[in-house]
This record gives sequence, structure tokens and C-alpha cells, in this order.
Amino acid sequence: LKVLLVGNGGREHALASKLLQSGKVQQIICVPGNGGTAAMDRCQNLSLRVDDFEGIGRCVSVHNISMVVVGPELPLSLGITDYLKRKNVQVFGPSKEGAQIESSKSWAKALMDEAGIVTARSKTFTDAMEAKAYVALQGAPIVVKADGLAAGKGVVVAATVEEAQAAIDELFENNYRTLVIEEYLTGQEVSVLALTDGLTIRPLLPAQDHKRIGDGDTGANTGGMGAYSPAPIATPELMERIGKEVLEPAIATLKSRNIDYRGILYAGLMITPAGEPKVLEFNCRFGDPETQAILPLLETPLEDLLLACAEQRLAQQPPLVWKSGVSTCVVIAAGGYPGNYQKGREITGIGEAEALGADVFHAGTQVKQQKLVTDGGRVLGVTAIGDNFEEAIAQAYAAVDCIKFDEMYYRRDIGDRVRKS
Ligand code: ATP
Repeated sequence: LKVLLVGNGGREHALASKLLQSGKVQQIICVPGNGGTAAMDRCQNLSLRVDDFEGIGRCVSVHNISMVVVGPELPLSLGITDYLKRKNVQVFGPSKEGAQIESSKSWAKALMDEAGIVTARSKTFTDAMEAKAYVALQGAPIVVKADGLAAGKGVVVAATVEEAQAAIDELFENNYRTLVIEEYLTGQEVSVLALTDGLTIRPLLPAQDHKRIGDGDTGANTGGMGAYSPAPIATPELMERIGKEVLEPAIATLKSRNIDYRGILYAGLMITPAGEPKVLEFNCRFGDPETQAILPLLETPLEDLLLACAEQRLAQQPPLVWKSGVSTCVVIAAGGYPGNYQKGREITGIGEAEALGADVFHAGTQVKQQKLVTDGGRVLGVTAIGDNFEEAIAQAYAAVDCIKFDEMYYRRDIGDRVRKS
């Protein structure tokens, strides 16, 4: 089996590592990959943009690729799957139409409405005056969301009506044409990623991530500073409910609309204080860093699962097998992230961290003149598995302590909420 993997983050390094574990995958080509994927046996990077469909298509033919696995949302929302399927290659990742579940919040809301999925009450607006009048009527706190991919920057949780109205003006001024205004929900957030072939779903272990840059969940929002899995709040009973009330109705509704959806359906949920799961958002791909926490726990060969999704035969797969422990992933970032940061700093100590048994996934790294250097905001994800969270967290931080580069930054409280569970 030869796989082409699209993306360059920690998520893609975690996917590549898992895909190479069973020995069935002969070769992976990462487009464009990073310093981590470049260093793996049977893995090579190809320097193309993730939206260069023609280039990717050519690579698929030249290298006789059996399956393309798409990491990020951007190429999915631009229709990479539709493009490649016309070339008769199997693709793990939904069609452009299906990817709207992430790329358009109003589309996702309408789908949830049709499917009867519980989510925050909301209304969609294309006019600033009307949106502001609605906010004045509803009061605060309230949530303003841009309709479109915004790399996490299109959501404002407003504490006051004035703040919400300012966000409405700003988002319209930034050329978003449609906004979703949503009821503010309280509770704990959890991510449930499910494999699907458009007919059947197989949920992965639930995870929780840390979005803010600072300890104690303070400061600016980031792509994610750490994650752990399985999240204890998502008990087997709750997972059962999420399957029945969220994931299955979503897939059934996509199917009823004749939308080809083979890939990951990721539900970002708020578990309300009453224990009710309510959907905050759907994503159409593996989450990052959640994937870096979830995949190291997976025993079932990943390539069997991804191929079964792409070939629409997931129902015939045996139940997923997981390791018995728990995992914690600590993200190491470049100082200054998510604002301005330096690149090109030499990284040392990864071998020592791995010798402690941790997985070190690369995100923003590059090999330059035979040296591994930083090349992005989120640089590495360090994952450790333990019998319990206390142990997994301690092991992840022991491995982080081995790694050094100038101005490296990481949160010191990843997993604190579940440390005792
Ligand atoms: P990402 O893909 O980075 O998770 P996004 O830009 O697609 O983010 P959402 O996930 O919809 O946006 O929202 C981002 C964050 O804002 C959520 O993780 C949550 O913390 C908060 N949030 C979103 N909707 C609500 C809501 N209705 N009530 C309370 N908080 C919310």
C-alpha cells in the first residue's frame, strides 16, 4: 500500500507514524510534510502546496498511490477529494459538499436542524443592523461566528452586547458576508472524532484539548496547546448518546442529501452542567493536537480503517482495539506564538525524549543544513502513555524537559483537570 498524506502538522506526523507501524504501508509521500516526516524510513516529503491539486494528482499517478489521506480542512473545502476521485484514486476525506460541515457554520447549523441534533440556539445574518438588533434583544453573553474558514479567529464569545456588536461590525468589515449569532453555552468541551464511510460511524476515543496559550486557560486562542485522551467526562453512556443523538443523525442526513462523506466527522461538543451533549461545531478532518493524543492509543492498524472508509466498507471492520492506558500530549511552541515568533532555532534533545518512551511529533520543524530547526508557531507535540493521567502527564513533561531550543514555550498545566482520574 502506498499512501499520499496531505498536510504538514503534528497531526500528519502522528498519522504517518501510525500508518507505518504495521508494515503494510510500503511508502508514504507527505505533501509537504515537515522535519519529522522527512526523517522517517519509508516516508518522503514532496514540496507542493496542499491546494496544488494538479501537482498532487500527478504525484498520485507517478508513484502509483493507492490512497490519499487529507489532513487539513483547506484542501477538503476546496474540493481535493472530488478532484482526485475523478482520477480513480481512493481518498480519505469528504467531498467539497460534505466539507461544508466545517467550512460554513450556517450550512452546519441547517444540517443539525434537519437532523434534529441538539446545538446552541442560533440565527444567521447577512445584514449588520439586523444582527446587532438581534444581539440587543437577546442580551449577553452571546457568541458571534463568521461563516467560513477563519483558522479559529472567526469566533467571538462576547461578554457584553457592545462587544458582540463591535464583533459584528468587524467581521462584516473583514469581508465575511454571513454571520451566525449563537446562544452562549456553559459546561465542559469535549472532542469526539469518528471514522465514517458515509454509511457507518466508528467513534474514536474522546479527547479534550487546551486552546488558550496560557496556564489556567488564559490568554489568546491558539491552534491547541495540548490534549489528553480518553476524556473521562465522556463516559461510555455519554459516548453512546453522542453516537445516537449526534453522529448517526448527522451521517444519515448527509446521506439523505446524497453527500459523499468518507473521512472524519469531528463533533466539538459542550457537555452542559446537566450532562447534556450539545454541538458547538463540526469539523471535517482529524483534530490537532487531539490526533496526537488519540492515535498512540490505537492498536487496530490505521491503514485498514482509513481504507475501509475510503472504499465504503467500514461496517465489515472488526471493533476498534485500544491500548488500555491513557495519553497526554504537550505542545511545545515558539515563544511569541500565537503572535509573532522566530523561526530557524536549532532543536536538540528529541532522541533523549524518545528514549524515555514518549512520541515526539513534529509540527513546525524543518531540516536545514543537516540540523533540525523550528519552522512554525507550534513546533512539537510530545505524547506519553501511562496507566493513569498522573503517570501520563508526568512522563510527557519528563520528555518535554529533554527538549531545548531558544525561546521555547509550553503550558505547564496540560491535563490538570483530569490528573487525579
Ligand atoms: P476551532 O475549529 O479552532 O475549534 P472554530 O473557529 O471553528 O474553532 P468554534 O469551535 O465554533 O470555532 O468555537 C471556538 C471556541 O469558541 C469553542 O471551542 C468554544 O470554546 C467557544 N464557543 C463556540 N461556540 C460557543 C457557544 N455557543 N457557547 C460558548 N462557547 C462557545
